[in-house]
Amino acid sequence: MTAAVPAPREPAALADLLLSRIRDVADYPKPGIVFKDITPLLADPEAFTALTDALAAFAAEHGATKVAGLEARGFILAAPVAVRAGLGFVPVRKAGKLPGATLSQTYDLEYGSAEMEIHAEDLSGEDRVLVVDDVLATGGTAEASLRLIERSGARVAGLAVLMELEFLGGRERVLPALGDAPYQALITV
Ligand code: AMP
Repeated sequence: MTAAVPAPREPAALADLLLSRIRDVADYPKPGIVFKDITPLLADPEAFTALTDALAAFAAEHGATKVAGLEARGFILAAPVAVRAGLGFVPVRKAGKLPGATLSQTYDLEYGSAEMEIHAEDLSGEDRVLVVDDVLATGGTAEASLRLIERSGARVAGLAVLMELEFLGGRERVLPALGDAPYQALITV
């Protein structure tokens, strides 16, 4: 059963509000990276609620039955979306953190590789999963997560991120993994 989800704000006004609560931190965690710090947004109930409502409306619109959050900031965004939309929450974790039987997906980083895992038993063939994260950068983390959902036997309902860093080309990386499922970035910079 899906909960009644409040109507989202108008997209441009929502993007302005959200962007005003994201702090750029230069040279973090290493020189040359501009880190998008969402803690001011989380600390502002108006912005955090508006974000949650917008993502919950997206989940309802596209028939999601579960919301998957990507470690670690994706957990913070996805869990209230799941509750708001009356859906279950599934964590997608870095390798070695989940205690049960996992499915694993490795993906390439600029130097080396990384691995994401899920508890496949938390999903069924009936599930349609909305994947949620804070920032889409190169798209590797989101792409691996979409592959995991598919491999679990569930279907992907869509991918939604708070912010896309357009210059890193992540959108091109995730679109093939999404197939016909929708993609939404509430802010694109
Ligand atoms: P990627 O796999 O390159 O798309 O990286 C996405 C993951 O890394 C997300 O889970 C983000 O939380 C994090 N991330 C990447 N770049 C940034 C950034 N500039 N600011 C904040 N988080 C970032």
